[in-house]
Amino acid sequence: VSSPASEKTVPLRPAVAALPAYVPGARPSGRAWKLSSNENPYPPPAAVVAAITEAAVEVNRYPDMFATELVEALAAHVGVDPAQVVVGNGSVAVLQHVLEAVLEPGDEVVYPWRSFEAYPILTAVAGGEAVTVPLTAAGRLDLPAMAAAVGPRTRVALVCTPNNPTGPVVQADELETFLAEVPRDVLVVVDEAYLEFIRDAEAPVGIDLLRRHPNVVLVRTMSKASGLAGLRVGYAVAEPRLAAAVRSTSTPFGVNHLAQRAALATLQPAVQAELAERVEHLVAERTRVWDTLREQGWDVPDTHANFVWLATGERTVELAAEASAAGVLVRPFAGEGMRVSIGEVEANDAFLALAAGWR
Ligand code: PMP
Repeated sequence: VSSPASEKTVPLRPAVAALPAYVPGARPSGRAWKLSSNENPYPPPAAVVAAITEAAVEVNRYPDMFATELVEALAAHVGVDPAQVVVGNGSVAVLQHVLEAVLEPGDEVVYPWRSFEAYPILTAVAGGEAVTVPLTAAGRLDLPAMAAAVGPRTRVALVCTPNNPTGPVVQADELETFLAEVPRDVLVVVDEAYLEFIRDAEAPVGIDLLRRHPNVVLVRTMSKASGLAGLRVGYAVAEPRLAAAVRSTSTPFGVNHLAQRAALATLQPAVQAELAERVEHLVAERTRVWDTLREQGWDVPDTHANFVWLATGERTVELAAEASAAGVLVRPFAGEGMRVSIGEVEANDAFLALAAGWR
C-alpha cells in the first residue's frame, strides 16, 4: 500500500541518522574561564588583526580559490613543495576531505579511542567503517594494537599525536615500527593539531617521515598555537598525488578571504616569534598545572598538548557542572573524565582550586 504523498519523508542515509553529536566546548554566558575547547587564550597579535581589518573591505570578491599565496607560505614554513600542501576550513575539514579522497563505502578506518571526537563522525560521513582501538591505561595510543587491527579492508589509520583528550605523544620509534608493519596502500593520517606544544625530543619530526613514507599525510591547524580558531585554517602535507586528490575533494573556496589574509600575516617572522613566546608561556603553565595536579594526588597522563586530562570517572558530569557554576568551563566525557585546556594564569588557578577540592 502506498502512503499519501503528504506522509512521505526524505529517507536519511542510515550512517547519517546514527551519527553521534559533535559536542562543542561550552560557551561562556557571563564571566567564565573557557577551558573547554583547547583554544589559545590570547587574542591575535596586532599585525594579524590589522591584516583582517584591511581585508574586510575586499569581501565582496571571492577569495583565491586555492589560497595560492597561503599554500606557498605554508610550504616554505614547513619546508616542502607547494604541491604537497592543501588548505581547508579548519583541520577538521581537511580530515574530512582526506577521508573522502580515499574511502570507498565499507572501507575500514582504524583509530584510537578515546581520541578526537570528530573521527567517528567523519568516518561515517565518508562511508567508512570504524575500527576502534582502546588507549593504554596511561592514555597513550596503542600502536602495536592498531597495527594488529589493520586488515584487508583497512584503507586509513588515524594517529592523533598528542592525543586529544588525553595528551600523550607518539614516540618516533613507535611510529616507525607502526609504519613498517602497516601496508603501503593504507593511508596513515598523523593528526598534529597540537604539534607546537610538544616538548618531547623523542616525538617524531613529521616532514622527514613524509620523505620515507609516501602513505603518510600530516594534518595541522592554525587554530591552536596560531590562535586562529575562529577563522578556521587547517592544512595537510602529503606527497603531490595524494595532496592533489585531497584538493579535488575539498570545498571550492573553502578558506575564506579573511582567514587567508590572517593566516599569511601569522606566518610573518615577527608574528611567529610573538606566537612562539606565548606558546612557551602556555607550556610553562601546562607544567605548573600538571605538577600541581600530581601533588594533589591526581594521576594525570603525560601531556604534550595545551590541555590536561583529569580522570574523574563517574563523578565527571557532576564535577563539570560544579566547575561551570564556579565560572570554569571544562570539557566533560561522561563516566570517564574531563579535558581541561591550559588558559590564562587566573583561569588555571581557578581550575586547580576546584581540582584540589575534588580530591
Ligand atoms: N585534530 C584534533 C586532534 C583536534 O583536537 C582538533 C580540534 N579540537 C582538530 C583536529 C580540529 O581543529 P580545527 O578544525 O580547528 O583545525
